[in-house]
Amino acid sequence: MFANGLTYLAIPGPSVMPERVLRAMHRAAPNIYTGELHDVTRSVIPDLKTLAGTRHDVAIYIGNGHAVWEAALSNVIGAGDTVLVLATGRFCEGWGEMADGLGASVETIDFGNSNAVDLAQVEAVLKADTEGRIKAVLTVLVDTSTGVLNDVKGIRDTMNAAGHVALLMCDCIASLGCDEYYMDNWGVDITVAASQKGLMTPPGIGFVWFNDKANAVRETTPKVSRYWDWRPRVNADEYWKFFDGTSPTHHIYGLREALDMINEEGLQNVWARHDGLARAIWAAIDAWAAEGPMEINVMNPAERSRAVTSLCLEEGQADALRAWCEHNMGVTLGIGLGRTPASAFFRLGHMGHVNGHMVLGFLGTIDAGLKALGIPHGKGALEAASQTLADLAGTRSACCGETKAGVDTCCG
Ligand SMILES: *Cc1c(COP(=O)(O)O)cnc(C)c1O
Repeated sequence: MFANGLTYLAIPGPSVMPERVLRAMHRAAPNIYTGELHDVTRSVIPDLKTLAGTRHDVAIYIGNGHAVWEAALSNVIGAGDTVLVLATGRFCEGWGEMADGLGASVETIDFGNSNAVDLAQVEAVLKADTEGRIKAVLTVLVDTSTGVLNDVKGIRDTMNAAGHVALLMCDCIASLGCDEYYMDNWGVDITVAASQKGLMTPPGIGFVWFNDKANAVRETTPKVSRYWDWRPRVNADEYWKFFDGTSPTHHIYGLREALDMINEEGLQNVWARHDGLARAIWAAIDAWAAEGPMEINVMNPAERSRAVTSLCLEEGQADALRAWCEHNMGVTLGIGLGRTPASAFFRLGHMGHVNGHMVLGFLGTIDAGLKALGIPHGKGALEAASQTLADLAGTRSACCGETKAGVDTCCG
């Protein structure tokens, strides 16, 4: 009934695409042999490295997140190798299944669906691996099915404490440009991400960052498929001309614009925006959850992503809520993933091109849906969310921001 107008996608990828990115892509096919496209491709490389917090290499692939899962594994993992999967939801499990498909032997520690990786368990498993069978530890910064945020630095510290030299491979597909991440400082050897979440660009290109230690392991991998091999992809002269096939022309232009937007705002500010918006969402959920069936999946705020939130209601209610929000209000919520009963779970994407009014809009929509469907819930969710944003933004950002002796000269 109220759906006509600008529709809104509050799902954890693909995320909302900025007009600027769409406009940058709206162009005729460029010359792929020489000229501007090569310059633009060259220009995204340093920005991609900054984004992941690394001074090492990044390879670009035409493909989605699943593609870069395979790309990363293919360079360092072969048949007979062992990987350790730290499962905090569906996604790291999926990466492990891909390793299994490549012939690796996969060991999994399952931390359930509502908690971050327990470092003590990781340490015990690594210490027991006295022969050094485990070649790589696979983890996610954020698991998009559960909304769990992992302590990736803690995982590396634990590996060090156990005296284990395995590669640390981290999936940042959901969370790069949303949750804080420092690949080099945290001691991650390989990072993967894709274009369509925090990076605000359509699905279709993905990235593998790798350090010298990972590249040394690559050198000992006997066979790597020509397409996944990262070595030619970091050789500018060979690669930017040919991209192992046609360049992802329009994606490169879209990505350039998205990176410009991140640079203009400043990465720290981008992270702070995601943090504040997530806090507003959590405040609303706390209010709803005070009565009735709603529960946030991750109870401990320190273990929650700033990019995606997973919630549950009673069986059937999440499906009904999603349908109500879409058909009546033009807001699409994310489906529950990898959970049973699926019809009780839903997810909110708040990654990338998202701001205060977008968040208040979808929270208000959910509030209306809970009322319309008669799903019992606590009151005051919107009040709590708007108060959170008001407190965090304060009065200063509405003014010139000039202060004298601690007093804002613009708004007092
Ligand atoms: C989205 C996502 C993937 C899968 O990416 P696709 O582009 O859908 O293949 C993998 N891992 C995480 C953490 C994700 O959020």
